[in-house]
Amino acid sequence: MTSLPHVPCPVVLAAPSGTGKTSIARALVSGWDHYVFSVSATTRPPRRGERDGEHYHFVSGAEFQDLIDRSELVEWAEVHGHLYGTPKTAIEGPIGRGRHLVLDIDVQGARQVRERVPGAVLIFVFPPTARDLVARLTGRGTEHADDVRRRLTNARAELSAAEDFDYVVVNDDLSEAVAAVRAIVSAEVHRPGRAADLTFTVERLKAEIDEELAARTA
Ligand code: 5GP
Repeated sequence: MTSLPHVPCPVVLAAPSGTGKTSIARALVSGWDHYVFSVSATTRPPRRGERDGEHYHFVSGAEFQDLIDRSELVEWAEVHGHLYGTPKTAIEGPIGRGRHLVLDIDVQGARQVRERVPGAVLIFVFPPTARDLVARLTGRGTEHADDVRRRLTNARAELSAAEDFDYVVVNDDLSEAVAAVRAIVSAEVHRPGRAADLTFTVERLKAEIDEELAARTA
């Protein structure tokens, strides 16, 4: 054990869409079982291959409004014409079970998490270049030209928010970006403020030292 027992981190990965932050989030949760993906609710229709409850909870506009009215979302935002939000249940369960929750959300949502979820670690993911961003947005083959333009315009505006984040990671190479996020989380869990019971550990070590001292003066 290299860290004290600690309170897990909600890890927020925010970025303009097309930056590859979903790939980073998926790699974390599939590679290490102490990471768990926060499944958002959205009014966006599923893309090919997306499964309800795994990629998103796909809901109607009325169902989403109901979640808002019943205060069941930690944060929510309208992104590219659809509503997206993080259910409170996504946060409470994994953290109670000691796992790091990975939130793949937009910049507006990250700002709300900053205010409402103490201890969240906010990581802004950059594309290496604008050309890479365009390649990823068009390469998906699921977006229309208007949609790509809208996402690029949003990306331009969102980049200015990076200064308010705790960390910035460039997603040039996926495995390096994942390693960077893991290094950040590793550093975070070594912060004294995240230790589950620092005072207890300090007192225990002091008592042990007192015993050693007593043995040496006897
Ligand atoms: P996509 O439709 O491409 O899956 O996601 C569009 C954008 O919505 C991405 O930036 C994604 O991270 C963001 N997003 C996904 N889930 C949430 C959420 O629960 N809250 C917020 N604020 N944004 C989300």
